[in-house]
Amino acid sequence: MDADVIVVGAGPAGLMLAAELRLHGVRPLLVEQLAEPSAEPRARGIGPLAAEALRRRGLDEPLRAHQPRGLSDRRRDHGSEKGHFAWIHKIDQQLQEEPDRAGALIWQPDLERVLADHAEALGVRAHREHVVTGVEQSADRVTVTCRTPAGERRLASAYVIGCDGGRSAVRKLTGFAFPGTEPLMVARRARADVVCPAGLPPTGRTPTGTLFHAPGMVGTFDFEDVRTDTRAPVTAQELEASLRRVAGAEVEVTAVHQAMRFTDQARLVPSYRSGRVLLAGDSAHVHSPNGGQGLTLGLLDAANLGWKLAATLRGTAPEGLLDTYTAERRPVAEATLHNTRAQSALMRPGPHTDALRDIVSDLMDIPEVNRYFGRLLSGLDTRYALPHAGPDAHRLTGAHCPDLNLRPAASDGTAATTLARLAEQGGPVLVHTGQPQVERAARPWHGVLRTARVAAIEYDDLSALLVRPDGVIAWAAGTDGPADADGLERALRAWFVPSDRQEAVAR
Ligand SMILES: Cc1cc2nc3c(=O)[nH]c(=O)nc-3n(C[C@H](O)[C@H](O)[C@H](O)COP(=O)(O)OP(=O)(O)OC[C@H]3O[C@@H](n4cnc5c(N)ncnc54)[C@H](O)[C@@H]3O)c2cc1C
Repeated sequence: MDADVIVVGAGPAGLMLAAELRLHGVRPLLVEQLAEPSAEPRARGIGPLAAEALRRRGLDEPLRAHQPRGLSDRRRDHGSEKGHFAWIHKIDQQLQEEPDRAGALIWQPDLERVLADHAEALGVRAHREHVVTGVEQSADRVTVTCRTPAGERRLASAYVIGCDGGRSAVRKLTGFAFPGTEPLMVARRARADVVCPAGLPPTGRTPTGTLFHAPGMVGTFDFEDVRTDTRAPVTAQELEASLRRVAGAEVEVTAVHQAMRFTDQARLVPSYRSGRVLLAGDSAHVHSPNGGQGLTLGLLDAANLGWKLAATLRGTAPEGLLDTYTAERRPVAEATLHNTRAQSALMRPGPHTDALRDIVSDLMDIPEVNRYFGRLLSGLDTRYALPHAGPDAHRLTGAHCPDLNLRPAASDGTAATTLARLAEQGGPVLVHTGQPQVERAARPWHGVLRTARVAAIEYDDLSALLVRPDGVIAWAAGTDGPADADGLERALRAWFVPSDRQEAVAR
């Protein structure tokens, strides 16, 4: 074997996954077709759940550093700081249930640099100029064939993860189905020099699509010339034709500095796993970028899969742990595809859609409706259905944990800390406020858990909680009544084998 796991693709999902695997003691081998990281400015930010996942790995600083530029670029390109649904810019962070749980604005190449540095600090570097052309699995291994400048290379590992984007070679070579819906539109976005003697109409809807422009930048959502092959470079002539169709204006594009084309096709694999091959990120799901949800999906796929696959490889995974990956992540992707389809429908040109947009826009002025759209795009109301949780489980069970301030127990001299800091080493975290039954129930997992006894958890109605390595609350206790120690034990058994069995496996 050349590695425990081969991760194909050093985009955001692959970099995060390789780092997560390494953090959990696995040897990943990361292969990437490109000689250099991509400079394509696709995503301009990540949602709150992804930002929190990165903060739990100590990456708060770089996210903060990029925020001011991200904000000013968003104002420039969107004409608004607010979030949008189908380009109706009304989602107001201050109106949301938890306004402090915000995303981070950072251009994708910068994010990839942050993730690459993080992975490298853990000892993972991408093997570049490795184009995967073959994937074969047998009972005990997967063999990956790569085309490299030095010739063909065959690499073997126990598992392979395709993080190789929407056109995933791993997905196709393994034979995953990829059903979904065809595109309604093609979007084009370019940094280009455009001459338009009569002046372009203002950014916004036109009778045939949507136009947006800012100094040095133009874009169209074009419902007329819908093509599915988006690989060929965008030419000046193609941009001119699309601008003429959408803006209804005579234009000349004298230079194209950078351009991309993408569609709103929406597809999702039926399962994220086929034997020893798994998928994460865009390789498992594609949809329109409207609402900026793709990166968050991929980064959280990686966070969900990393520790589960590591435990499976170590032989310390409870029965069926790896199968919970599809069970938990696929419904989230399905919901995302659903809302992006709705956005495409709301962006169709024509007077009927204009009327519908007016109504949706008015509805978004109602604070509860504004919060509805906020939740839809942020995923903050995501709740995994955890099989061990009974009907009386705390309302946060299955949710992703916000960063929490933890007030230290006055007598033990420890400093105030946050959940993110406790989670940085990657393991599960148990925080409690000194309930003896919690300490007793967790004792068999003492070597597995990072346990913190605190005076208070600064969040509404929380006196204890068990947080999985991916930040998901597996069990929690409120402030009313005794903590349910049986529920805690069931949760611990469901996700982690006790310390003595882990030690026996290690021996
Ligand atoms: C215009 C635009 C705007 C967007 N805006 C946002 C946004 O604001 N927020 C957001 O969350 N998302 C946004 N997205 C979506 C986001 O860019 C994607 O969801 C994200 O890039 C997916 O990450 P990934 O790692 O899964 O795949 P990718 O980023 O596609 O990375 C895949 C990697 O695999 C490599 N690879 C491919 N094939 C092979 C092979 N055969 N062998 C080896 N390596 C291979 C590629 O070179 C690449 O490095 C946007 C997308 C577009 C197009």
